[in-house]
Amino acid sequence: MSDNNYQGTPLLPKEVLHPFVAAYFSRKHIYQAACQNHGSPLWILESSVLKENARQFAAAFNHFFDKTSFYFAIKSNNHPEVSATLLESGFGLDVSSGAELQTALTLGANDIIFSGPGKTNEELGLAILHRDRTTLLLDSFGELERLKALVSRSDDINPVRVGIRLTTNPNGLWRKFGIIPEKLPTFWNQVKNLSTIQFKGLQFHSSWNLTPDRQIEFIMLLGNILNNMPEDFNQSIEFIDVGGGYWPGEGEWLQFAGTREGIAHKAMDKNLEPVETHYIIPATPIEKFAQTLFNAINKHIFPFVNCRICFEPGRWICHSAMHILFTIVDKKGHDLVITDAGTNAIGWERFETDYFPILNLSRSALQEKLCSVLGSLCTPHDVWGYTYFGNDIQVGDLLMIPCQGAYTYSLCQNFIKPLPGFVKI
Ligand SMILES: *Cc1c(COP(=O)(O)O)cnc(C)c1O
Repeated sequence: MSDNNYQGTPLLPKEVLHPFVAAYFSRKHIYQAACQNHGSPLWILESSVLKENARQFAAAFNHFFDKTSFYFAIKSNNHPEVSATLLESGFGLDVSSGAELQTALTLGANDIIFSGPGKTNEELGLAILHRDRTTLLLDSFGELERLKALVSRSDDINPVRVGIRLTTNPNGLWRKFGIIPEKLPTFWNQVKNLSTIQFKGLQFHSSWNLTPDRQIEFIMLLGNILNNMPEDFNQSIEFIDVGGGYWPGEGEWLQFAGTREGIAHKAMDKNLEPVETHYIIPATPIEKFAQTLFNAINKHIFPFVNCRICFEPGRWICHSAMHILFTIVDKKGHDLVITDAGTNAIGWERFETDYFPILNLSRSALQEKLCSVLGSLCTPHDVWGYTYFGNDIQVGDLLMIPCQGAYTYSLCQNFIKPLPGFVKI
């Protein structure tokens, strides 16, 4: 249990939380009508929110950079309607598998980047076949060799456009991605004279960026490398892709169990009681991200390579555009209710550590009450939260958890309960 002297992760202030909740309550009739028409449980995609996020993200970076491209990372939400809506907003698509590439092609995307480790020959083959719409971001020297062999068997004489992914951290599990920047001269020697494969740019990606610090650090390192690369290499670079990982500006909202202190608490086998306190790790607003990244790229990269800068946002774009709604089926105590959906709908035990307010749309009120809101799966880890906003909670009430668009829908599991319906509004 947390106490009032708690000094670690900051508390999520009511001045932030309550207006957030109020904004969704003010639109509750829209969500209730969607459930009346499409049943419960239900995913709701708000296409206007998605488009506004895309606009705001692009505007933030275009304010500073002359040449940009934006690619939505499909894996963060693989519903085809999400990608289709973003294509309408002028985004390209960032795919990480043959299946995602096929989705992008079927949607008619004509600017696709394909990155990821361990691409199979079949996946490379699909990219080769659609070379007019796809840029392959190579992950290793081995992949380059396999690509060369595959391309040599193709009749198409147009070159395949490639970039190379750079490892941002040579230690730990992230070293599985890309090649270390120090190997760029070797890479250049292997691609520069190929006629069927045209080298066009560099990519790097770091994750969970609540601040731009990690990206800035790598940009400085990359500037040093480019300073020492041959002129023909730097001139061949048409793009540098700085990846995704931008955290939504509202920050990371946590249950006590998700804080550093909560994790330590649990390691000591102490019991965690549900409480009404929540925590926040603040995040840098996207406009500030744009300014900071521009300053770093302008200083460390543009003196050597003046190229288009590409961005691969996933979570920032889709998280606030999709919500999950479900209904109370059983009330087993004044502080214990069971819902018609299980957390198989979101694919992981998110709400044991992450906090999102549960809104009782049927009895809306700006007060948060203690009550364990649990799903109907045969596992005690099937948790939506330990509190709800409303003046009461009863069987038949319609509940909503907003901002569940990122890394939930893509991860849903066909486990015990069927998956919720889906509607785009
Ligand atoms: C997952 C991923 C992204 C998107 O990350 P977000 O945290 O959703 O912004 C972008 N690029 C690559 C290469 C990725 O693997």
